[in-house]
Amino acid sequence: DAAINRIAAGEVVERPASAIKELVENAIDAGALRIGIDIADGGKTLIRVSDDGCGIAPDDLPLAMSRHATSKIDGSDLLNIHTFGFRGEALPSLGAVGRLTITSRAEGADAASLGVAGGEMGPVKPAALNAGTTVVLRDLFYATPARLKFMRTDRAEAQAISDVVKRLAMAEPGIGFILRDVSGDGEGRAMFRADPETGDLFGAMHQRLGSVLGRDFADNALKIDATRDGIRLFGYAALPTYSRGAAVAQYLFVNGRPVRDKMLTGALRAAYFDFLSRDRHPVAALFLDCDPTLVDVNVHPAKSEVRFRDPGVARGLIVSALRHALAEAGH
Ligand code: ADP
Ligand code: MG
Repeated sequence: DAAINRIAAGEVVERPASAIKELVENAIDAGALRIGIDIADGGKTLIRVSDDGCGIAPDDLPLAMSRHATSKIDGSDLLNIHTFGFRGEALPSLGAVGRLTITSRAEGADAASLGVAGGEMGPVKPAALNAGTTVVLRDLFYATPARLKFMRTDRAEAQAISDVVKRLAMAEPGIGFILRDVSGDGEGRAMFRADPETGDLFGAMHQRLGSVLGRDFADNALKIDATRDGIRLFGYAALPTYSRGAAVAQYLFVNGRPVRDKMLTGALRAAYFDFLSRDRHPVAALFLDCDPTLVDVNVHPAKSEVRFRDPGVARGLIVSALRHALAEAGH
């Protein structure tokens, strides 16, 4: 079973950033208001994700660490997924590729912790924690030298982590995030910080946009809000002058999930085609919301690709809404 876990783990956990994505998504699912992420050495030696969410009762800890155990779906509901996690694979996978300790406290219960290393689960022990959940993952891939070899520099891994955290933060303006590099024995250095935003959809999104992409960008971004054939597109897109030399500042979400999708980035590019040279990329934070049956977000275990039942509708909506906004802004 430990071997099966390690194979499955490779699908879910490719690098420190993918581990962090799973852990932060769990914190979001748990209803956290604040999420703290600490990393050391690009996440290779230490990843620590703390949340103030609902927590896990001591008796449920071993279950949370078991394969395909999830508290989030009942099987009849596969097309109608509203929470991030639904596979029940992340924690056991992480426990198979690193030394994992989960400490948690559910309301009205005592705090407890459980360790897993190399897929072997230890006992549930009493612990000290005020509320929520803290997951510590040390020495990622220590038992999988082949994967260890493929990890990039600490700097590159830290960059990928920062990108993942910013994407999730953009999607959840109501949640506060702090990402710290605690390498060495210093105090730690804040890499990214965003306070929980209140207010209406666009107000909170606009504030968060400022935290992630900078005030100047947020103050000059074009507001987008358009609906066609059951798909709503909303968010902010930058004036062509804010374009970048790489497509790193394109934040795209489908039903609240960060996605990377060729069709969607292609549509974005098409909308700006007349205003950007080939080596420039538009900057935008755009959300597509539609009935979950119109889109398959489960193409890959890492869940970043999507498949629309009618890709033409999504593409057309993006191109026309952005062109319209650019025209209104004088382009
Ligand atoms: P999934 O998220 O797909 O359900 P995971 O392996 O990521 O699977 O997590 C297994 C279970 O552990 C979750 O269904 C949830 O009940 C519990 N869990 C994990 N992380 C947290 C957390 N941060 N707060 C509360 N519960 C959690
Ligand atoms: Mg999960």
